[in-house]
Amino acid sequence: KKRIAVMTSGGDAPGMCAVVRAVVRAGIYYDCEVYGCYEGYSGLVQGGDLLRKMEWEDVRGWLSLGGTLIGTARCMEFKERWGRLKAAKNMILRGIDALVVCGGDGSLTGADLFRSEWPSLVDELVATGELSAEQTAKYRHLTIVGLVGSIDNDMASTDNTIGAYSSLERICEMVDYIDSTASSHSRAFVVEVMGRHCGWLGLMAGISCGADAIFIPERPPSASGWREDLKKVCLRHREKGRRKTTVIVAEGALDDELQPITSQQVKDCLVEIGLDTRITTLGHVQRGGSAVAFDRMLATLQGVDAVRAVLESTPDTPSPMIGILDGKIVRQPLMEAVKLTKSVATAIAAKKFDEAMGLRDSTFKESYANFLDISKHDDGSQ
Ligand code: ATP
Repeated sequence: KKRIAVMTSGGDAPGMCAVVRAVVRAGIYYDCEVYGCYEGYSGLVQGGDLLRKMEWEDVRGWLSLGGTLIGTARCMEFKERWGRLKAAKNMILRGIDALVVCGGDGSLTGADLFRSEWPSLVDELVATGELSAEQTAKYRHLTIVGLVGSIDNDMASTDNTIGAYSSLERICEMVDYIDSTASSHSRAFVVEVMGRHCGWLGLMAGISCGADAIFIPERPPSASGWREDLKKVCLRHREKGRRKTTVIVAEGALDDELQPITSQQVKDCLVEIGLDTRITTLGHVQRGGSAVAFDRMLATLQGVDAVRAVLESTPDTPSPMIGILDGKIVRQPLMEAVKLTKSVATAIAAKKFDEAMGLRDSTFKESYANFLDISKHDDGSQ
């Protein structure tokens, strides 16, 4: 029987539990054995109880849960060859030669590196007498399949990552709470959202919450003009009768000289136009809570496809990443997706902001333009 390990790695995201559930159950359905790898790559490196077989009933009730019940971690040992050597030994001793990883671009890069190194790791284990040639004979190739779990929606080549819509939902709930008090007192709120390098949460929260303005890293405003523009737009909305002001700031917001735009700077502008202004940094509430329906569905469909991809993989095909494009579950070459994702940061650093916008999900540019149109024509009703 094929033995597959499933792992969650990097930052946690709602929907990761649903991924593990789907991989365990689809694996059993397709006559495989599935091992849960606990605490990210530490589970592979340390082995023992951190790498154990999971049964159908072990994941009962996991579909809706937030976070990840098999744990996640940043594992420094796995970044070193000796750590990956220990991981390969632990896997071979259990007869595991396929790994489904749900994580961000770092986790997927590590997985692909592990796969490319695998034959040489096996040779080294035999040469040093850690394992015998017979023990390793059946395990000459490692199969890797990636799933993207990230609240930031920061992976290129897929429209959505698992967890992003749950996080967006949390942000909207929180802004709705803030809105009640903001309108009552006619206050302004600067709401800081997660997304150190990616403005998807900031942009979609701006649209979904009817914000007056947003600041995101992919579309930096003019360093010399953004303060005046912000004041103008907020004043215009107030003049039209709006009793509250909401500005969303992504934690990685920049101006076009690549200097950070902070919530405090935004607040200072709003105070200058006479608004009673508070800053709310949403922080880790954005990661918490149960997975919304979309993330449960995405995690389940992608988890099942990950098992199929394991069974269909050959030593010659590149590792796939399971994505979703235009509503269809698709397989993309994992390292190409990671490379494109990294090129967003490069484009921003080179001030090629249009290029950065284009590399986000397929609706990103259009959504931003629509946000501006709505903001321009805002009649104060929202
Ligand atoms: P997030 O987007 O939430 O930060 P991530 O998967 O990018 O998720 P990282 O901290 O970059 O998060 O990576 C998670 C783990 O993956 C690391 O702690 C390490 O164990 C492994 N990893 C990351 N990059 C590599 C690499 N280049 N080589 C080997 N392992 C890696």
